[in-house]
Amino acid sequence: MPDMNPRAVNAAMNTDLFIDGQWREGADGDRFDVINPADESVLASVASATVDDARAALDAAQNAFAGWAARTPRQRAEVLRKAFELFTERLEDFARLITLENGKARADAMGEATYAAEFFRWFSEEAVRADGMITQAPSSGARILVQHKPAGIAVLVTPWNYPAAMGTRKIAPALAAGCPVIIKPASETPLTMLALMPLLEEAGVPKGVVNVLPTRRTGPVVDAMLHDPRVRVISFTGSTGVGRTLLKASADQVLKPAMELGGNAPLIVFEDADIDIAVEGAMLAKMRNLGEACTAANRIYVHEAIAEAFTTRFTARMADLKMGNGLEQGVDVGPLVNADTRSKVAEFVDDAIGKGAELRLGGKTPSGKGYFYPPTVLLGVPEDALCVHDEIFGPVAAIQTFSDQDDVIRRANDTEYGLVAYVFTEDMKRGLQVCEKLQYGMVGLNRGLVSDPAAPFGGVKQSGLGREGGHEGMLEFMETQYISASW
Ligand code: NAD
Repeated sequence: MPDMNPRAVNAAMNTDLFIDGQWREGADGDRFDVINPADESVLASVASATVDDARAALDAAQNAFAGWAARTPRQRAEVLRKAFELFTERLEDFARLITLENGKARADAMGEATYAAEFFRWFSEEAVRADGMITQAPSSGARILVQHKPAGIAVLVTPWNYPAAMGTRKIAPALAAGCPVIIKPASETPLTMLALMPLLEEAGVPKGVVNVLPTRRTGPVVDAMLHDPRVRVISFTGSTGVGRTLLKASADQVLKPAMELGGNAPLIVFEDADIDIAVEGAMLAKMRNLGEACTAANRIYVHEAIAEAFTTRFTARMADLKMGNGLEQGVDVGPLVNADTRSKVAEFVDDAIGKGAELRLGGKTPSGKGYFYPPTVLLGVPEDALCVHDEIFGPVAAIQTFSDQDDVIRRANDTEYGLVAYVFTEDMKRGLQVCEKLQYGMVGLNRGLVSDPAAPFGGVKQSGLGREGGHEGMLEFMETQYISASW
């Protein structure tokens, strides 16, 4: 039957909790609304999990663990491969749902859906490569055998900015490793993870291996799971503040933590950069996901010799972007996810202007329904502006100038964050030297995009612990066992 209202969630979609392969109401019947940020309408009412529901999910995961871990790597890989194929067939449906609950424009949502699907393909390939090692102890001559085993039940907590990809980036490696999971999606965007469950079932994931617990009582529900002795891994993506809270809570049981936290990415354009490449890279690094990304270029440093040329071209590209409901054709910039996020963006812009930044574009909150904020360009942002020190998380480019290489490296590193940095220069020797001096887990060199399922994604300093994707991603869900043997 055709969907009569393209702006509504499919009425057939299940919005209960998903525990042990079954859809259930929460233990106390509580539900909460999911809002469409484009028009502030209610998209769906979703069951809200209680601590009792969390225990039921843990029971299910525990029952499923041995069977899933006992499957051969090839069997687990085939299930993940099937999930990739099914997801790829349904990219449009997932993209639409992502736009409905998060707001991002269709192109961003399709980009996310494609990226999300790729984690199933990548980890279907990694599932069969949990290589160990055998060697001889140098002194005793004993054999050293090293193998990797599934760590146990993993609790996955994800943010709203990538409702699909931040989930699949954790679910796929956990399943490849042999671990069952309980996923707690962000309360703003729980629908995409719920929509993924029938797909995983169809792909052959047994009941209890993946459970989803949306809740508006996040703190107590997650805390109860982190204190249950059956849990071994906490994998979190979100803000550094909540990450600290979860690290403290996971200390009681000494859980294996994977933390993908906040960023404050610098983007440096040297005087010898190709300006066209730098402008395109900056557009991608700033405007992908309308700036609601931990990888978003938060501070743009342009050498003073090319600052005006760069800013003029960049501003023209920003001015060309069309803002509107993300479901509509031709829209590049959807609404921000909620009113708080928009207020923070507006506050940061007003603060920067109040402290002397020059407004080149945008900067005004539109009236009417929806949490829209226009593409905005600020030049000459002073060091003491709030947006230099904290994530903007919106479509605002904060440009500063520099004249000295060592000075810009010092300024780029002058933050507690260390997720990603971007460097633009035509001199590769210089570029690589600068990359090495940047205290960041990832660097884009003449590129405005670093995310790739085949690469180890993650930060240093207070941007996180551990890596997702690449060869490292599956090991986050495995324990290393060493056997000392003689024969
Ligand atoms: P958030 O930290 O507010 O929430 C993330 C998740 O944690 C949500 O599911 C939320 O419900 C849950 N949560 C909140 N309080 C909790 C508590 N006390 N106990 C347990 N769980 C709790 O982050 P957000 O606003 O959803 O997302 C934006 C943040 O995520 C930004 O800081 C961004 O940089 C970061 N992020 C990081 C990456 C990365 O890979 N490093 C990727 C995407 C987003």
